[in-house]
Amino acid sequence: MAKKGGLSKTARVSLVQRDSTNFLTDRVCMQCGERIMLKELLPVKVIGQGMQYYHKNHFAVA
Ligand SMILES: [Zn+2]
Repeated sequence: MAKKGGLSKTARVSLVQRDSTNFLTDRVCMQCGERIMLKELLPVKVIGQGMQYYHKNHFAVA
């Protein structure tokens, strides 16, 4: 198998994982409409609508 940039790709992944508690996801909060940091991400399964996402401290007021 050809290895194209395998080493640098692995290094990039480990960097993301190390910083995962402060990682900005592409999920948007249903309550405030802003993107959610991974450590604030709260996935909620809604019947008939699929997954919705909230900041952990915004879901209580939703
Ligand atoms: Zn929010």
